Amino acid sequence: MRLFRPCFFTAWFFPEIIFRIKTGDKILCLTFDDGPNPDSTPRILELLERHDIRAVFFCNGKAAEKYPDLVDSIKSKGHIIGNHGYDHLNGFFTSAAKYSSDVNYASGFTSGRLFRPPYGRLRFKQYRLLKKTYRIVLWDVMPYDFDNRFGREKALKLLKKKIRPGSIIVLHDNPGSTVMDFLNDFILFTLGEKYRFTLPDF
Ligand SMILES: [Zn+2]
Repeated sequence: MRLFRPCFFTAWFFPEIIFRIKTGDKILCLTFDDGPNPDSTPRILELLERHDIRAVFFCNGKAAEKYPDLVDSIKSKGHIIGNHGYDHLNGFFTSAAKYSSDVNYASGFTSGRLFRPPYGRLRFKQYRLLKKTYRIVLWDVMPYDFDNRFGREKALKLLKKKIRPGSIIVLHDNPGSTVMDFLNDFILFTLGEKYRFTLPDF
């Protein structure tokens, strides 16, 4: 079974993690993990600019260090850079000390404020250490754009069905993602539904 949204227990165990913007208004927040990348980032930026939408890019620290011009380009378009760790570590298999030092090191190239755990995986000790410094952001809807087998139609259908006021949507800024197959159509759909896109204020 595919989980499009983190399970209820995650929110219960990690009360300070943000999954969704608390609002009754029809607003959505797009987030892009794993960039920047010279192939995918410019295409995503161009599409967002065409619709005048701002988003959060949870950048991989190693990639941000390698492509500082892309990071600048993301910022210059009014988007927010978030921290997605330096080495994309899996929290389940990494000690809390190593994990937090990886995130802190990445903050030199990304953001000192917003952090998204790679794979959405975080153990309690890592959470306790990191929440002192960062707002930890997961998501409310995940359309599996990283999985080619899931495909455009299913991703679009899932998004249309599952978005709700305040949804934070996780997408991926890398060439393997199918995001460019459906993002334009999804944006057009949301505009028809009177949703608008916003940046988080946390
Ligand atoms: Zn990632």
